[in-house]
Amino acid sequence: MIKAKKSLGQNFLIDDLVLKTIVDSVEIKNKTILEIGPGTGNLTDYILNKNPKKTFVIEKDYELAEKLKIKYPNLLNIINKDVLHVDENLLFNEKAVVFGNLPYNISTEILSKWIVNLKDDFWFEVLVLMFQKEVADRIVANTNNSKYGRLSVLANWKLNIIKIRDIKPSSFKPKPKIDSSLLLFTPKKNFYKIKDPKNLEKITRIFFNNRRKMIKKPYNQIFNGDLRVLDKLKLDLNLRPQNLSPEIYLKLTQEYENLIS
Ligand code: SAH
Repeated sequence: MIKAKKSLGQNFLIDDLVLKTIVDSVEIKNKTILEIGPGTGNLTDYILNKNPKKTFVIEKDYELAEKLKIKYPNLLNIINKDVLHVDENLLFNEKAVVFGNLPYNISTEILSKWIVNLKDDFWFEVLVLMFQKEVADRIVANTNNSKYGRLSVLANWKLNIIKIRDIKPSSFKPKPKIDSSLLLFTPKKNFYKIKDPKNLEKITRIFFNNRRKMIKKPYNQIFNGDLRVLDKLKLDLNLRPQNLSPEIYLKLTQEYENLIS
């Protein structure tokens, strides 16, 4: 028996219906697959049953990675590393289908890393990922929604997002304390070009710092009281951060980059 390690966010999926929903949400046959955090291989079994062309898994836990090598001789490319330290662009030539019942403590960090590093010739065609529900709700939130914020803007920048379904704690072992949600992401063919994603992070941090206040103060802080950008983007200083669409945040970032270059 394997004892789950809390520090590695180990909540293994044990619900056959959920496992089936995950692998049925996208085409797997003859595709290159990447699974993040395969754990004991519960989801991996379902993936392999669908006859992928090649399957890569990234598992940080040495003990689990060794067990997977024994369980699937020759069937899997097992990478015993921290996913945050892997450059996915270098793993394969074809665009991958990516699955992950992600460790909750680093799920946003993984997604942010992928978005920030994503080039025009993106390395994946689709991501099917599990998040804690509260995080998933923030990722999918639309403008004017109370959950809309920095993460929604970042995710919307390069990805189309669909919620597949919510998932109860009883589908996992050990049971997490919170509900989860399964999200499906596909890359946008066109997205706003900015010079440095750090500037988008800076702008959204300053704007959402006071989400209930009007945008007058953050706007003036960034543009030094110069109202030209305001006119150009047809913004009103009485709006609140959650009223501005992801598109507006990207345009504000572009204007800011013009200003500082
Ligand atoms: N997919 C499996 C296990 C999910 S639990 C299932 O559904 O049953 C999360 C898994 O991610 C664990 O196996 C854990 O060891 C692994 N993990 C945690 N942090 C990681 C990291 N930084 N990089 C890669 N894998 C990690």
